[in-house]
Amino acid sequence: MARQTRERVPKQARELLRRLPRVDEVTAHACLQGARRRLGVAALTAQARAVLHELREAARAGRAPPDLDAVAALVAQAAGRALGRQVGRVINATGVLLHTGLGRAPLGAGAVQALAESAGRYVSLELELDTGGRGPRAGFAELALSRLSHAEDALVVNNNAAAVLLALAVLAAGRGVLVSRGELVEIGGGFRVPEVLARSGARLIEVGTTNRTRIEDYAQALGERDGVAAILRVHQANFRQIGFVERPPLAELCRLARQRGVVLVKDLGGGALVDLGSCGLPGEPTVAGCVEAGCDLVCFSCDKVLGGPQGGAIVGRAELVQRARRDPLARALRIGRLPLVALEATLASYLEGREDEVPALAALRRDLAEVRERAERWCRMLGERGVNAEPVEVAGAVGGGALAETPLGSVAAAVAADDIEAVAARLRAGRPAVIARIRAQRLLLDARTVLYDEDDPLIDAVVAAVGAATAPSPRPPRE
Ligand SMILES: *Cc1c(COP(=O)(O)O)cnc(C)c1O
Repeated sequence: MARQTRERVPKQARELLRRLPRVDEVTAHACLQGARRRLGVAALTAQARAVLHELREAARAGRAPPDLDAVAALVAQAAGRALGRQVGRVINATGVLLHTGLGRAPLGAGAVQALAESAGRYVSLELELDTGGRGPRAGFAELALSRLSHAEDALVVNNNAAAVLLALAVLAAGRGVLVSRGELVEIGGGFRVPEVLARSGARLIEVGTTNRTRIEDYAQALGERDGVAAILRVHQANFRQIGFVERPPLAELCRLARQRGVVLVKDLGGGALVDLGSCGLPGEPTVAGCVEAGCDLVCFSCDKVLGGPQGGAIVGRAELVQRARRDPLARALRIGRLPLVALEATLASYLEGREDEVPALAALRRDLAEVRERAERWCRMLGERGVNAEPVEVAGAVGGGALAETPLGSVAAAVAADDIEAVAARLRAGRPAVIARIRAQRLLLDARTVLYDEDDPLIDAVVAAVGAATAPSPRPPRE
């Protein structure tokens, strides 16, 4: 029986597959002349191959392929989409403050101004202006990070993945690194602790169990194994365990590492430079807290709760940071000049005690009453323009792996319309695009994550999207 079915399908499919046009017939089609000019033949051929691949899969499943003209039209569509995929401005109404898909932290006014002044100019990137000689690339940022985290030294790189990779490569290549089985996690975007560790050249030594790892497990592994260079402690980011769970306090693990002469590296994830407990969000460790607990090196991102541009940092003991700085890998992982300019301006805000200039922190600190008032104002503005909306309490998220178990209390304007999916699609297609969640057939516009000067473009976009979606049968004006 099974064999018969298997034979019958291919025969039928072969017939359908034969009807598919060849890739060169498609790319030569008249309707692709414009796309051929804009993309070049090689890239257009790749687009056509991708479309034909899907049609081939469909044919194998028994669906008849479209004719040449229709295939060419599909390729034209795909080429148009690819060309229109340039990164552009978005209004974040999702309720996730640090959304990796939306570029994580928006920059503050100081960082934007610094970029505006220097992006189109030459900059004193590696120049000592007083002597005219060669200077360090990220001297100010590294000094500021040391100061803010109470660490001896700091090194800035391209992102936190680079920071962890570099720290492990420098300290532990060819040697062992202890990691709790409960921390062998995938963070997202392909950052998997065991894979990054392997790529650094270090050898993973698993300790404890998935749910419980005790200090004795580390001590035993250190006693049994030769050539252990480090203990890696990983922030579990968006992963949570509940119930029968145990891991030693960070300070205790640091003490053990020191006693046994191995280095403790902490992958902190988002580098909180201030205590988020002050925003009613306790539980996220700060960089300074990790340094004070006794970590030799702490690695973190600059575009998560720190609120800066893409970047990564290694802070900690001067001798170890210096080894990382001198490693050839550091050159390959260095930060670009534009993010560096933005990072320095962001860190200057912290140094001067003006953290509220950092939009991510300001949004975290804004109290719920103010967020509610804003959502209510949006509902009034929408109502006046004929769009039905009401304020609802929602649970947002910090994002970026921070405080995964603490919902970020917020209020949204919940918009009702006939075809809510179509409204959301129109909002995504707009300029600027608006990204929002749909819950229970309503569009939720989160009043905590939309930036504070974006009320008007948001309301205009929603009015247009709802109006367009209901255009064929306009609703009577309300009130
Ligand atoms: C986000 C994160 C990373 C990766 O940081 P990038 O800056 O995105 O490279 C690594 N480890 C942890 C624990 C994280 O939360």
